[in-house]
Amino acid sequence: MDFSWTESQQELYEGALEFARSLGISNVPSTTRRGAHFPENSWRKCADFGLLGLSVPVDHGGLGLDALTTARVVEAFGCGMQDSGLLFSACAHLFAVTMPVIEHGSEQLRSEVLQRMASGEWIGANAISEPGAGSDTAHLATRAIRAADHYLVRGEKCFVTNGPVADVFLVYATTDARAGYMGQSALLIPRDTPGVSIGAAYNKCGLTNSPLASVHFDECRVPLHYRLGKEGQGTRIFARSMAWERACLFAAFVGAMDAQLTKCIDYARTRVQYGRPIGANQAISHRLADMKRRLEAARLLLYQACWKHDRGADATLEISIAKLAISEAAVESGLDAIRIHGGAGYMKETGIDRALLDGIGSTIFSGTSDIQRELVAHRLLGTLRAAPIKNLAVVRAKRHDTASEAGAPQSACSTAAFNASAAARSQ
Ligand SMILES: Cc1cc2nc3c(=O)[nH]c(=O)nc-3n(C[C@H](O)[C@H](O)[C@H](O)COP(=O)(O)OP(=O)(O)OC[C@H]3O[C@@H](n4cnc5c(N)ncnc54)[C@H](O)[C@@H]3O)c2cc1C
Repeated sequence: MDFSWTESQQELYEGALEFARSLGISNVPSTTRRGAHFPENSWRKCADFGLLGLSVPVDHGGLGLDALTTARVVEAFGCGMQDSGLLFSACAHLFAVTMPVIEHGSEQLRSEVLQRMASGEWIGANAISEPGAGSDTAHLATRAIRAADHYLVRGEKCFVTNGPVADVFLVYATTDARAGYMGQSALLIPRDTPGVSIGAAYNKCGLTNSPLASVHFDECRVPLHYRLGKEGQGTRIFARSMAWERACLFAAFVGAMDAQLTKCIDYARTRVQYGRPIGANQAISHRLADMKRRLEAARLLLYQACWKHDRGADATLEISIAKLAISEAAVESGLDAIRIHGGAGYMKETGIDRALLDGIGSTIFSGTSDIQRELVAHRLLGTLRAAPIKNLAVVRAKRHDTASEAGAPQSACSTAAFNASAAARSQ
């Protein structure tokens, strides 16, 4: 087993770290986009650096990196970039919107949108969550009704990262209500489509500069070629996008924990109480040791997950474990960092609280920690099997047969439905 990085991976990491450190932060961005506060200047700089095209093929304007190298670069950004919200927005755009278009979009769609997305001209937003469908994505109330050459989409999506500033939405909608999780499809919907409207921005606890809103679709007419994959493949496409997001976006939290640990070590060395540095007390030094243990364990789990993902193997289990380990470590170490800094750690001015608040968010988005545990447990107990895309059509046909035999619509409340929903949320 070789744990070393190649020279070019090392150069990419160092270049990204230096660049990320050169970007500043503002709690309220002075720039706006589409009427919303958004650090558009920094977004542009990140785009010019190549952040938005890390894993995008070279012929579509990206750098064409594999998941492991992409994650390593995102880790550098997480370590060096103070604006964690902007980094989160950039990663959501790349992994949950651009990558699905690359992997499942038609040639026509790819040529229409990818260059714009990799260059940052367009901002993408992933829209699956609904007021009635959070962890349980098998029950999407948003409907896409097929007509001759288009779909008519109607529904409401909530918690949409980049919603207020996005140019294009990747929307998951039910196209066949009788087929449960196999009756969902993924559609790319440009913001200027008549019927699209954006709700008020949410006021989040962390990830400050990442705007979040609900988005409404009222009889939006979407051309057929704006569908990703085949009709009914939405769940599978979403699961795959979550695999990318989990494997690569969460590298940002690994990088943030790295920077946080350095800060805590400095403070433990220089803050003097009772005539000696506070790091001389085991209560402090053991906290540092625990932070280092969590960081390295999370980092290795992430690299392993990316390595497996790059080999085209089913990395669901590894990716879930990595996501769980990283986000839970971010919360625990975020709390340790505040404790190490005492009163200063509790003051907004020092920014020590940021990692904890961002970390709490990371236990929720891309599938909550509970859902990750469910998925891991189902794998251990042998009660959850991945449904490869090539088998979905067969399973779907079988389910339709059973449904028509029974003369009843498919219930999505079955174990299979939970499994598919959990797999999607936890991949
Ligand atoms: C910062 C942020 C950004 C987000 N960005 C996006 C985005 O870009 N696009 C998007 O579509 N969504 C986004 N989301 C939404 C996010 O994916 C959901 O919040 C998440 O999936 C949980 O859904 P929910 O909030 O409805 O909670 P619920 O599903 O209602 O869960 C509530 C609680 O019950 C637990 N729970 C639910 N079911 C089970 C079960 N079967 N077993 C054990 N525990 C269970 C959960 O773990 C949780 O603790 C974002 C959320 C946040 C916080």
